Amino acid sequence: MRNIALTIDVEQDVPPSLGTWRGVENGLPTLLELLSKHDIRATFFITGQVAERFPKLVKEISRRHEVACHGYRHERIDKLGAREQLRIIDLATKTLVNTTGLKVLGFRAPNFKPNVHTFEALERLGYVYDASNASYKIGPNANRFKLAEIPNTLPSSFLRLPPSLSTRVLHLCLVALPLTVLDFHVWEVVEIKGVRFDCRFATGEVALHRLDSVLSYLLNKGAKFMQMQEVAGLIRASVFPSVT
Ligand SMILES: [Zn+2]
Repeated sequence: MRNIALTIDVEQDVPPSLGTWRGVENGLPTLLELLSKHDIRATFFITGQVAERFPKLVKEISRRHEVACHGYRHERIDKLGAREQLRIIDLATKTLVNTTGLKVLGFRAPNFKPNVHTFEALERLGYVYDASNASYKIGPNANRFKLAEIPNTLPSSFLRLPPSLSTRVLHLCLVALPLTVLDFHVWEVVEIKGVRFDCRFATGEVALHRLDSVLSYLLNKGAKFMQMQEVAGLIRASVFPSVT
């Protein structure tokens, strides 16, 4: 069905290994330019801390793209108790809403590691969808809650593979799946060193060029780019099949 949701996580560089902000400071503006060039609207999962430190950049994202929540300090939310999760997600949500003036409808747990208390907190805070799961990982999902569950389809380092390889996989996804959810991080377009291989290979300029090529490929194939809030709306209205 050729539907693609491009999601971008906005956080400190390679959490928790590095604590720098090069991805937000240097990578994010470059990514926004690239999306603008292709006229693609994406969904940005942003931490509350980023909104506090870089309010102008977050406001700028919200002018063209969906802003969703990615925790407060990129903490491992599944390691926190129910009350602390509720407090953290509430705080992060309020920071994002105060920064953009817009509602936040979706959440992605840092490291794709939610637990049942995460979904309880999201439901209580009026969230519409959860994007904390990945099709390639086994984890609790939000199906028994009043949340649309929209899992990530491919590992986030996937978009840094040579396009000759990644486009073959994407071709299969476009043919076989109702929706393909892709994930990318702002720090992937700055050169990363000193962390494990899957986090650092082909980062920097190479990543930017590869993402550019893959987006061109998808547009040439007639892919329709959707924001996650649109997907959630269609799942809830049963127009769109559940993708879990
Ligand atoms: Zn993250």
